[in-house]
Amino acid sequence: MDIVLKANPRRYRYIKYYIASILIFVLIFFIHPYVFHPSISLITLLSSILLTIYAEIDRKCTVYILTNIEIKIEKGILLKKIETIPLKNVVKIDVKKSVIGRLLKYGNILIYTAKDNKYILEYIRDPDYWNTEIMRRTMLKLPPPPVPIPVCPVCGEKLIWIEKKKKWYCRKCRKYR
Ligand SMILES: [Zn+2]
Repeated sequence: MDIVLKANPRRYRYIKYYIASILIFVLIFFIHPYVFHPSISLITLLSSILLTIYAEIDRKCTVYILTNIEIKIEKGILLKKIETIPLKNVVKIDVKKSVIGRLLKYGNILIYTAKDNKYILEYIRDPDYWNTEIMRRTMLKLPPPPVPIPVCPVCGEKLIWIEKKKKWYCRKCRKYR
């Protein structure tokens, strides 16, 4: 089994943890002169640090892997949960990008399988590249190559399709072919 792509969600996924962490940290400076016991400030400081640590660990523990035969989603800090999606079961893939995601080059990849299950790879860097790499390895067909336009067997001119008559027409010979 060859690993083709491997990624953690981008940090943007945890933005609310980082913001909360900073807000709590700032709060300490405001409440510190008024609290009776320094341990309250200490607990507040610890919770601020813990939020960031939690976000970082959760990010490290969330891993998306594409191999030549399957997609693996690893989650969970204490209890590891691994979801495996065989590529042969994939029936549809969608890439969802928000406006900010477009700017910062991240997005979610939604993977649908034959059993009506939906899996999400969240906050993936360069989701279009992932999409292409997954598509290439599934049964899903990439858009077919353009069909060559037939040419007139007599003069070699490109024929035009006449929908009304359901026939090919040569403008040079002025005949249906
Ligand atoms: Zn012709």
